[in-house]
Amino acid sequence: MRKPIIVGNWKMNKLNKDAEAFVKAIDPKCEGAAATYGIGAPFTCVETCVKNAKNLIIAAENCHFEDAGAFTGEVSVPMLQEIGVTHCIIGHSERRQMFNETDETVNKKVKRLIEANITPIMCCGETEAQFDAGETEAVIRAQIAGGLKDLCPKCVGKMVIAYEPIWAIGTGKSANTEIAEKCCAIVRDQVRVMYGDEAAENVRVQYGGSVKPNNIKEYMAMPDIDGALIGGASLKEDSFTEIIDATK
Ligand code: PGA
Repeated sequence: MRKPIIVGNWKMNKLNKDAEAFVKAIDPKCEGAAATYGIGAPFTCVETCVKNAKNLIIAAENCHFEDAGAFTGEVSVPMLQEIGVTHCIIGHSERRQMFNETDETVNKKVKRLIEANITPIMCCGETEAQFDAGETEAVIRAQIAGGLKDLCPKCVGKMVIAYEPIWAIGTGKSANTEIAEKCCAIVRDQVRVMYGDEAAENVRVQYGGSVKPNNIKEYMAMPDIDGALIGGASLKEDSFTEIIDATK
């Protein structure tokens, strides 16, 4: 039985004082919940979030695959480990589109995180043009094949993978449950092809893209959707609380 995992992705939002107030307000609501709830926070407030979270899991939104060196502006996995980060979002489409993230760098980051015992939340998903051209399945399979190259089945089983169609991110145009379920099942099947049944049954697959309090339940009811990665609706305490209340 997979434990659902619902994670907010704050992106480049929130100062420390706002992050602290948010975590202090939300964290107690997650106590004893049947699902895991978490926040992906920008680097400057990750530590504040970690310090104030007892029930929430806290994720960084990126990392570098090298441990140290001449990589101006980057943050390494040991740096995340030092401040108690347990999860890390990798390969978000915004990083792929704006910051040259590739399946190869995603794979290197996933490997380094697994080595450090930090759970990667690896993102995949097609553009609107790829969706219109009927290329969705091929794109997802290629991103999973590249991102999960040369790992061990047990490690993959412990990961989280977020399927996020780019056309649904921040647009209010969420994928309907049929599309979301079909694509999350493709993610799981690609894991099965590469790492077998056990990894496929254990890996948790999230849907992301305009998930809101009013549609989260429909997604969570689908057999291959184990959670959600939530941008806009995770920024406000009231909407994130509604999401928690709808799913815990
Ligand atoms: P959204 O973002 O919920 O605002 O569409 C999702 C994401 O980018 O992870």
